[in-house]
Amino acid sequence: MSRFFSNRHNGLTAYVPGEQPKDLPYIKLNTNESPYPPSPGVLSAVAGEATKLMLYSDPTAQALNEAVADVLSVSADCLLMTNGSDEILNFAFMAFGDEAHPFIMPDITYGFYPVFARLNRIPFEEIPLRQDFSVDVDALIRARGNIIIANPNAPTGMVLPLSEIERIVASDRDRIVVVDEAYIDFGGDSAIGLIGRYDNLLVTRTFSKSYSLAGGRLGFGVACPALIRDLNTIKYSINPYNVNRMTMAAGVAAMRENAYYMENCRRIMATRAYTAEKLGERGFSVLPSETNFLFARHHSVSGSRIYTGLRERGILVRHFSHPRIVDYNRITVGTAEQMNALLAGLDDILQEEAR
Ligand SMILES: *Cc1c(COP(=O)(O)O)cnc(C)c1O
Repeated sequence: MSRFFSNRHNGLTAYVPGEQPKDLPYIKLNTNESPYPPSPGVLSAVAGEATKLMLYSDPTAQALNEAVADVLSVSADCLLMTNGSDEILNFAFMAFGDEAHPFIMPDITYGFYPVFARLNRIPFEEIPLRQDFSVDVDALIRARGNIIIANPNAPTGMVLPLSEIERIVASDRDRIVVVDEAYIDFGGDSAIGLIGRYDNLLVTRTFSKSYSLAGGRLGFGVACPALIRDLNTIKYSINPYNVNRMTMAAGVAAMRENAYYMENCRRIMATRAYTAEKLGERGFSVLPSETNFLFARHHSVSGSRIYTGLRERGILVRHFSHPRIVDYNRITVGTAEQMNALLAGLDDILQEEAR
């Protein structure tokens, strides 16, 4: 830290993204990217748009709003497009949090939430997940303040039924509830259908996982028009051109080819079931996942040993140091071939440990 760094940021520890190493051709199962490439229409749309890069992108994102509105059956004025969903999450903290409106979140969830709270100097409270890693809905409801949850949750992969989400949103109409649906295309029921009835609900989505666009940086929020206007006030105070031209064109094309992405999600869900079963046969307990990753713990080999053993074999998974989950690894569901390589690597490690 230089002597110029503002005191406002005392105690800020930045989010640490999953590693993106450049040394070996790793099998990357550590950041929940899609193993499948973008659809052909996305590739040509991006190439076509590149010829217009001398011009700013549309700050209202009108074409993309309309394309997404069509697929989700919502009104276009209920949408706000952002540079990844991380940006809409930060906007939510900035727009709705202050000393009197802290954010309530589970103790084990997306690591960016506490970072955004600290960055914006908004108090936050962490509510422990239950012993089985399910979200303690009653404890969340009892806490006073805005609520932010990922559904399905990360890194556990576990989902809450829509009725429980609605119970949280309805518990206090004077607090904001942010539901981060980064993984909703892999199994859970979306809360988007509730936004017409609850003006305190913000649902966030990303193109990074189910739409093969992690490198494009595209996400969005869905909420009633009044909340979208508040979030736009934040956006236009930071960067009106927050989504670049090529990404905007990619998003529109992806919506046109929605069926391709939904088919990829079905393939990943099938591979997930296969992998969970094979992990079980090898002595892992695997949490029930409605996402494109599995959260797994071996009955005798430590989580860090599994992580380093796989890394030595060219396979990257995500290991977290939080004491409650230190025995676990989060494994992205890739192609069936990648999963077979993972299982072979694990067999090797487990044999070595047995010696
Ligand atoms: C990946 C992820 C995001 C955001 O990813 P972006 O690439 O910024 O869209 C948000 N929430 C959760 C829980 C995630 O896992």
